[in-house]
Amino acid sequence: MVVFQILQWITFEAIIYLQVLAALAETMKKGTSFGAPCLLENVLAEMVISAVPSIEMVRMVNSGTEACMGVLRLARAFTGKERIIKFEGCYHGHADPFLVKAGSGVATLGLPDSPGVPKGATYETLTAPFNDISAVENLFETNKGEIAGIILEPVVGNSGFIAPKPEFLNAIRKITKENGALLIFDEVMTGFRLSYGGAQEYFGITPDLSTLGKVIGGGLPVGAYGGRKEIMEMVAPAGPMYQAGTLSGNPLAMTAGIHTLKRLQKPGTYEYLDKITGELVRGIVDAGKKAGHAMCGGYIRGMFGFFFTEGPVYNFEDAKKSDTAKFARFYRGMLEEGVYFAPSQFEAGFTSLAHTPEDIQKTIAAAEKVLQQI
Ligand code: PLP
Repeated sequence: MVVFQILQWITFEAIIYLQVLAALAETMKKGTSFGAPCLLENVLAEMVISAVPSIEMVRMVNSGTEACMGVLRLARAFTGKERIIKFEGCYHGHADPFLVKAGSGVATLGLPDSPGVPKGATYETLTAPFNDISAVENLFETNKGEIAGIILEPVVGNSGFIAPKPEFLNAIRKITKENGALLIFDEVMTGFRLSYGGAQEYFGITPDLSTLGKVIGGGLPVGAYGGRKEIMEMVAPAGPMYQAGTLSGNPLAMTAGIHTLKRLQKPGTYEYLDKITGELVRGIVDAGKKAGHAMCGGYIRGMFGFFFTEGPVYNFEDAKKSDTAKFARFYRGMLEEGVYFAPSQFEAGFTSLAHTPEDIQKTIAAAEKVLQQI
């Protein structure tokens, strides 16, 4: 089976995986969790700080959801403002304030903004279409002095793969600065995947705060948020903004994270991911077009996606033009051929260091066959 649904970790060659398992076994002998900071937490924190341009201080948590909850509270505490802008089709975990026009499972299942979320919890959440800077300008205009920050997936993975237009991230950086609002990159998916320093390093744009998850846990439950020191110093116990977690920074998750990042530091990692992902996406989209389907696709390093629509896809509304029934037939056909993609049109795909060039060729050959049949 060739698997491209590897959200949680960048899987590595079998030999490295065994090394991670051995390191975990060693760590486990000394205790699985202490409910207190441990040295390994400092090691991973130092690695994150030296890798991610915006992060001068970092706080470990247990999931991407927790990381996003943390930055939201922090942005509000630091600016003294309450409104937050998110983009349609972006997913920032399942905490109440973010379940407004969310992507991922919410979009896949066609759910409303979720029963159980009280109106008050989302009252301060404003939304705009991704890649639409004038919609963001309008929100700043109509909510003058009230916006604490903008949170976004710098490359969207939760409506399928959607890249930012070249000028979009720059414009968002500029408008947040001009309005005393914080820019928050949710790099739970893109962190250590688009480059070692994440999307912010890849695009050369430094947000005020960032969230991380998935890859930095090497397959164990982890999340982290961090940013400029003067903002992070608001977090207790250094400052007054409360946030804590019994299992945060536990030695097992830290061990898996440290070993994952060490592997990713090896020269050639991201060049390899870029090469195989490019081949994969070009191969599938070309095969789709040859078979007469309207298709478009895109990728950056270890993250990719394709839609059954002519494109271009700049936001969630564009993504929804994709023929999801056709995607479902494609997904099932590929599964029968031994290839596992994310089971939704509204999820990105991921390549890993475990994928060989032969896996990519096998996948393209399977796609050529399935795309003729659907
Ligand atoms: N942010 C983004 C961009 C995500 O993709 C996800 C999960 O898919 C989350 C936040 C939430 O992370 P978790 O599922 O670890 O709570």
